[in-house]
Amino acid sequence: MSVQKNKKIIIANWKMNPGTITIAEKLFKGIKKGSMKGVDTVVCAPFPYLTIIKKNKPSAFCALGVQNIHHEKEGAHTGEVSLSMLASFPVKYAIVGHSERRAQGETNQIIAQKIGLLIKAKITPVLCVGEKERDHSGFYLHTIKEQLIECLSLIPKASYKNIVIAYEPLWAIGKDAARPATPEESNEMVIFIRKCVSDIAGSTVAHQMRVIYGGSVSSKDASVFLREGGVDGFLVGRASLDIKEFTKIIALAGAQK
Ligand code: PEP
Repeated sequence: MSVQKNKKIIIANWKMNPGTITIAEKLFKGIKKGSMKGVDTVVCAPFPYLTIIKKNKPSAFCALGVQNIHHEKEGAHTGEVSLSMLASFPVKYAIVGHSERRAQGETNQIIAQKIGLLIKAKITPVLCVGEKERDHSGFYLHTIKEQLIECLSLIPKASYKNIVIAYEPLWAIGKDAARPATPEESNEMVIFIRKCVSDIAGSTVAHQMRVIYGGSVSSKDASVFLREGGVDGFLVGRASLDIKEFTKIIALAGAQK
């Protein structure tokens, strides 16, 4: 079947940044100003900043996301935030399975529960998958396949198209990254991810899902990744804290045919 073109999506993962609500408001305003009709821009902000972002009216082009939710609906979970607590905010996306959370004990089974809750609430899960390292025997492919199968195990196949998969190799993320992935490595992995999804849910669904890349993305390599990396967009960490840099990435996505 022919590969359909998906609308580009550029997602900001602010992580535990910026340091103050004043800077968060300025940052959101700048990103909103630089967002555009043909690209889905999403800002995944820390919970204490949701109120100020809501006040600045997230839109269809510049949506609000969160970086996590708890996998249970309620209960004695000190310091956690449940999905129902977000009901008064216009949250459209939620990151699940980020490697920084997996490092704190988030398993594929817990991620599957989170995805189940999000799909029911009509919030788009942004499922992060990625390997720690690329071994020569190709075991990293098994890791990605297992993450996909287990994390998607609790939802109906008809819901898969409402999920964004973010390929985030751990070795390419953050300021201590060995290096970003190459567009070629990204392209191979996007093909592999779509093949895994196709085996579970069929090729139509596999091509409807948006697959994006995350790992040291900047405006310098965004265009080549969009052209040659096989991706429908990016999950952006550090560069999403710089209005000029992040809006440049949005504009480059908007310029792609
Ligand atoms: C991330 O951690 O999701 C990420 C992509 O970070 P960075 O862009 O800073 O590598």
